[in-house]
Amino acid sequence: MKNVKPPRLGVAIIVSGPSGAGKSTVTERLRAIQRGLDFSVSCTTRAPREGEKHGESYFFISERKFEKRIAAGEFLEYARVHGNLYGTLASEVTDRVRLGRDVLLDIDIQGATQVRKRAETDELLQKCLETVFIGPPSFSELERRLRTRATESEEVIRLRLENAKKELTKWSEYEYLIINKDIDKAVADLNAFFDIMRKKTKRLQHSGFFI
Ligand code: 5GP
Repeated sequence: MKNVKPPRLGVAIIVSGPSGAGKSTVTERLRAIQRGLDFSVSCTTRAPREGEKHGESYFFISERKFEKRIAAGEFLEYARVHGNLYGTLASEVTDRVRLGRDVLLDIDIQGATQVRKRAETDELLQKCLETVFIGPPSFSELERRLRTRATESEEVIRLRLENAKKELTKWSEYEYLIINKDIDKAVADLNAFFDIMRKKTKRLQHSGFFI
């Protein structure tokens, strides 16, 4: 008897959205539901927040080390976001998808643009890449959320609001859009999208399946 399921490549799902859209909460909830979904741990030069662990939330490294890793060509993409450097290590993504593992990338809009560009000439990335934009129901709601979160200084909040204004114009570059008005609904939507992504035939290896 043939295999019931053909082998497949993993999904590399990029989720972007401005600070205050609720992206981190939505992606954390998805990861709790979808236990098999790996998280691409990024490098960053920003300081860890309370409770963040090196190697889990991020790899927290110095600017000097970050520059070295850029020079060594280790990043799939990198960008300066809100004044700090952030980058996705190619090793966090490509080896996994090749083995059929699904990976979630929580990266900003500049990073997503770079990965998309790279996928134009990289067949594996082209097959594995899926992109989701998470937006707030309105700009004033985004501002309210950023202010009530109160984890950042006024200066940082203002910088994030300025960036959000630019970022919110980019939603149409993504394949899927989620407007996070209600957190449970946003999580359910992302979960449903992910289930659909996992069934796409472009990632299945066809030879020998069915007959
Ligand atoms: P935070 O400092 O709040 O954890 O993240 C700030 C922003 O950086 C978020 O929009 C997040 O998606 C983005 N980010 C996190 N990791 C990466 C990465 O590896 N590359 C890029 N381009 N952005 C990232």
